[in-house]
Amino acid sequence: MALKALDIYKLLPKKNCKECGDPTCLTFAMKLAGGKADVDLCPYLSDEAKSVLGATTRPPIRLVKVGVGERSFKVGEEFVLYRHDKTFYHPPGIVFHVSDTQTEEEIEAVTRRVRDETFTRVGSDLRFNGIAIRNESGSPETFARAVAMVESVEAHLPPILISRDTAALKAALVHCGSYHPLLHAATAENFHEMCALAKQHGCPLVVQAGTLEGLARLVKDCTAEGVSDLILDPAPDSLGDFVVRSTAIRQLAITRAAPDLGYPVYLDATRAGNEDAAIALGIVKYASVIVTSPLSPGPAKAALTLRQNIYTDPQKPIQMNPGLYRVGTPGKDAPVLMTVNFSLTFFTLQGYLESTRIPCFMLIVDTEGLSVLTAVAAGKLNETLVRDSVKKFDVENEVSHRKLIIPGYASPLSGRIEDATGWKVLVGPRDAAEIGEYLHEEWKN
Ligand code: SF4
Repeated sequence: MALKALDIYKLLPKKNCKECGDPTCLTFAMKLAGGKADVDLCPYLSDEAKSVLGATTRPPIRLVKVGVGERSFKVGEEFVLYRHDKTFYHPPGIVFHVSDTQTEEEIEAVTRRVRDETFTRVGSDLRFNGIAIRNESGSPETFARAVAMVESVEAHLPPILISRDTAALKAALVHCGSYHPLLHAATAENFHEMCALAKQHGCPLVVQAGTLEGLARLVKDCTAEGVSDLILDPAPDSLGDFVVRSTAIRQLAITRAAPDLGYPVYLDATRAGNEDAAIALGIVKYASVIVTSPLSPGPAKAALTLRQNIYTDPQKPIQMNPGLYRVGTPGKDAPVLMTVNFSLTFFTLQGYLESTRIPCFMLIVDTEGLSVLTAVAAGKLNETLVRDSVKKFDVENEVSHRKLIIPGYASPLSGRIEDATGWKVLVGPRDAAEIGEYLHEEWKN
């Protein structure tokens, strides 16, 4: 049963020494109670307190880091089965697959693509995460050459090395420097050798078994060997099989009914038949590492968009930073359009403004991500906020006129905004799609 913060506090040394990174023992206790800290961060805990706290306070799904440096990614540390219960925290790493039977040029091209490709959506840069190299040749030398090819691109991407042959993995690891690749996979047959390699090179390790009991047994075996950064491959026979197993793993892990299954889950979409469907289901149904063929542009954008949507906190709208944004190169006589910092509103309006080809300013005010209608109804969008934003972002010095265009849905505020700012308020259309026509007809300075 989970302990409350005060029960945890009673077990702490109460030195308030800050060595755990928290200002007091009580703050640390509160973090432990929320599963947001690790007991190992306090160096003064007795072994007894550690074992009591460790079992009840660590996150139900272990956080595992894949790779090092800027392109590394973290998976696991999730707390809920349904996104609307709270949020999902660590988006799955989507990793492009290459085989060591491909030519050097092909491997290089895929690596460069993952290194360079970025898709910008609602203000975020979305990218694929790494390269999985599969030992299909059966030759350790060929596998090592393929891994060396990936590393020679200097993409600094987290690699996944896929082979059951520890000799091939050993040969490949020579080329991975300090990148700590994810090794796939330890099985009941080879886990001793795989654990030895993972420990020697500081790598996280995928364990693979076709049953949940088999996975739990392997987790016990590998942790006993000293490897605890583990990822579970339930080796599904079909996509439906994956969903059933990954859902069961998540459920058993977050309820702590089976702590040995409290690890992130791996999905090889290249083996799942319909790869696009596999990626989508993997994102939605608890895969933390998804290996896929290099995707063509349409499915690539779809995968990145879905991942961004599912891993956005449903209780917090995606927000833009408030400020004064330029569309084109506006001069002193350019129109100023005020709106809210709900990102969908921002990007929709910005798109329509760009298509008008009329340079202008967008004054974005902080309504904590609420849309115009909601912000007006909730009183978040009001004359004081607009007046303060005009001042804060120095709009008066950017333009020579004193006219402010407000959204149609904010029309009830027009008089109060005029009084508060001293600017003439023009009420724009309700629908951003009509802004071009509105500016062409109404904007005269
Ligand atoms: Fe308290 Fe331990 Fe943190 Fe020091 S390191 S403040 S003793 S919890």
